[in-house]
Amino acid sequence: MDIEIYRNPNCKKVRGSHVLEVCCAYCKCLIARYLKVGESNLVKMYNERIIEGTIDFSVYHGAIFCPNCGKRIATRYTTKMDKKEAYRLTPSAFNKRKL
Ligand SMILES: [Zn+2]
Repeated sequence: MDIEIYRNPNCKKVRGSHVLEVCCAYCKCLIARYLKVGESNLVKMYNERIIEGTIDFSVYHGAIFCPNCGKRIATRYTTKMDKKEAYRLTPSAFNKRKL
């Protein structure tokens, strides 16, 4: 099965960040490569820090579903503090690893 990788044109470089690969916990399909700042738990992904993924992040989605198995990975919301577009990750639905 071919899964396309879409670059996110809205991604901004973030100083001091590292790249995390976020995968579906059920089928291990890549969901996104993400610029993470700090070592805290990954609970959300800001849209503007998603480098690329198997979902077209140039448009906003109400929720993110694995393109391979269809499980829900995250739900869209706006952060309270800085009013940014983000996705709240479902804790059991994803795996992450540092690149
Ligand atoms: Zn999956």
